[in-house]
Amino acid sequence: MSCPICGEPTLQSYRPFCSKRCADLDLAKWLNGSYSVPSEDQEDLENALEQQESQSLTEH
Ligand SMILES: [Zn+2]
Repeated sequence: MSCPICGEPTLQSYRPFCSKRCADLDLAKWLNGSYSVPSEDQEDLENALEQQESQSLTEH
């Protein structure tokens, strides 16, 4: 696995990044709203998980 910011090999303590600098850079990207990860898909996934949990709760 390589750092998504600069492509260097990932360091265990900063996974998935290679350094705190790249982790900070990634966080800054998030805060700027310019990150390219599809956040809507992540929300859908969380919603699906919540629905599954509430369903299993009502079954009991
Ligand atoms: Zn890096």
